Amino acid sequence: MDIITFNDTNPTNNQLIDQLGQNIQHCYQCGKCTAGCPVAFAMDVAPNQIVRMLQLGMLDEALRTETIWLCATCSTCSTRCPRGFDLAKLMDSLRTMALQQGIQTHGRGRKVSLFNQLFLDSLRKYGRSYEMGMMLKYNLNLHNPFNNAKLGLDMISRGKLNLMPHKIKGSNEVLKIMENIKKLEMK
Ligand code: SF4
Ligand code: SF4
Repeated sequence: MDIITFNDTNPTNNQLIDQLGQNIQHCYQCGKCTAGCPVAFAMDVAPNQIVRMLQLGMLDEALRTETIWLCATCSTCSTRCPRGFDLAKLMDSLRTMALQQGIQTHGRGRKVSLFNQLFLDSLRKYGRSYEMGMMLKYNLNLHNPFNNAKLGLDMISRGKLNLMPHKIKGSNEVLKIMENIKKLEMK
């Protein structure tokens, strides 16, 4: 049987420590984070298991989980952790890394990630969400063009959904804010 040992010089862990300002080895796997997580029931890998994967150098596998996208960033785990480990921040960093590396997850995680990207694209372009365009692209990307079509038609008939996009005044400022956030993420 292979014995898995943790190596403090592992660049994967050092990279994470740099990003988080905290050491993943501080986690002693008590499971309190997972016990309090409101979304754990839907995740493919429990929050404490994500930390364990990183302790074992399984960054790539962690980046491919649905869990990092299903995390609601509620910070319950960070508040409960007896070791002061900020798991919510870790999840955020993992999502950023996954995007930077162009890693796509599967299942519900992919849907969340896709929706996030389309929402942000819409903000960049119009300064606000253009729901009609977002939903069309979302459905096409998931190869399900008529998903929620009836609901969409009902909303259009009640004037709740604009057929055409509307660019807000100050959309350039919104774009500048988003570009500055992107620069901070790349640091
Ligand atoms: S609560 Fe903290 S120490 Fe316990 S498993 Fe979660 S991250 Fe690790
Ligand atoms: S921040 Fe994410 S992992 Fe932590 S308790 Fe909330 S949903 Fe669960």
